[in-house]
Amino acid sequence: MSDTLFGKIASGEIPADLVYKDEDVVAFRDISPQAPTHLLVIPRKPIPTLDAAGPEDAELLGKLLLVAAQVAREAGIAERGYRTVINCNAEAGQTVFHLHLHVLGGRPMQWPPG
Ligand code: C5P
Repeated sequence: MSDTLFGKIASGEIPADLVYKDEDVVAFRDISPQAPTHLLVIPRKPIPTLDAAGPEDAELLGKLLLVAAQVAREAGIAERGYRTVINCNAEAGQTVFHLHLHVLGGRPMQWPPG
């Protein structure tokens, strides 16, 4: 397991407010929410960025999206709408180098994002 913060959350070494877990994927509440609902969905596999994912990760990437949709439904934000975001590398704002998918909802969203 990677020793990034999210690797430690995935392994249970660091606690988080989990909303979902299975053998491949963990989801938890963002510690600094940018919307009334702000969840993070991560693979247990320590892939640092989306750019580092390969064809061997295709099924896992699909599962991340399906879990994102599930936790959004369970959080009650699916019907009105929510946004999923993956920041890839520094200029996009990525700060934790363990792949993660943001799920944001519960307020109107602007486009384009900043
Ligand atoms: O996409 P980015 O790498 O910027 O996202 C990292 C996210 O991890 C931030 O939204 C930040 O609030 C969250 N975070 C967290 N728990 C921590 C540290 C960061 O939920 N202990």
